[in-house]
Amino acid sequence: MNKSHETIAAPITPHRRGEPHAHGRAPSDSGLQLDALGEADSGHITREPASSDASQAADDTSLAMVHLAAVGLKKSYRKGPVEVPVLRGLDLVVAQGEFLAVIGQSGSGKSTLLHLLGTLDGPDEGEIYFDQRRIDNLPSTQRDRLRNERFGMIFQFYHLLPELSTLENVLAPLMIGQSTWGFLKNRRKHVATATELLELVGLGHRLKHTPRELSGGEMQRAAIARALITRPALLLADEPTGNLDHATGLEIMKLLHSLNRQENLTIVMVTHDQALAEQADRVVRLADGRVEGQTAE
Ligand code: ADP
Ligand code: MG
Repeated sequence: MNKSHETIAAPITPHRRGEPHAHGRAPSDSGLQLDALGEADSGHITREPASSDASQAADDTSLAMVHLAAVGLKKSYRKGPVEVPVLRGLDLVVAQGEFLAVIGQSGSGKSTLLHLLGTLDGPDEGEIYFDQRRIDNLPSTQRDRLRNERFGMIFQFYHLLPELSTLENVLAPLMIGQSTWGFLKNRRKHVATATELLELVGLGHRLKHTPRELSGGEMQRAAIARALITRPALLLADEPTGNLDHATGLEIMKLLHSLNRQENLTIVMVTHDQALAEQADRVVRLADGRVEGQTAE
């Protein structure tokens, strides 16, 4: 693994407040320019780099490499009259094709962060960018589409539909993402793709089984295949091995690794398990509502 951690660990420092936005500017060969981040008008990334090293790295960072960025995320939950802050100004940059693990104790806000990144919920303050576009303030129909088409999500408890077969579970996002007619017209092709994916995750022999006929590891493999059926660019994984024994957990990590490499899939995985986190390319720690530090492999 030769990815440069200096480049991917760097905070991004584009677009200072008050500078004009460069709407309509043609993207360069290397992708969109910094100013394109201002597309949503209220979007500015103005955080100071954490250190001079990071600052240097930030200068070297091609923004086209940045796949996902969270800036100054704040989120609180209300418990009765009390407001409980969970995220307190969190910054995070994830590079294109990176496999990032976010480690944190139970209750540190890992699921909250993942829900925000996946636009399942909105931050109280802060911004989220995906492919240089601000996404946290999109209308809900656009967020639904983004999630369906560009994001894959997997969870600790798989969330497979018990009455459907493995194959049907994997097909479900396609059925949701298009009209019945659109789905039926391409059914043969979709079934072939789903079967291929299930073979890729080692479940080619379990197509007709229902979830209750699968082991935990197999259910998570099915959930991974389901997350990938729409060919997402980003996979968000919430404790994907949390319900599995260690050996099976490692197998799932291996699978995520090979998907990351072969499909150039960007992965953000949250976990409380240090040993599993260390399987990723980069580990950052979530504590006190912020990303605390990072450990290059
Ligand atoms: P983690 O995934 O790291 O265990 P969570 O993001 O699930 O942490 O939760 C962080 C904190 O926010 C916890 O104290 C939890 O009780 C609280 N919390 C999470 N979701 C909600 C909610 N919908 N309503 C109220 N409190 C919540
Ligand atoms: Mg959680």
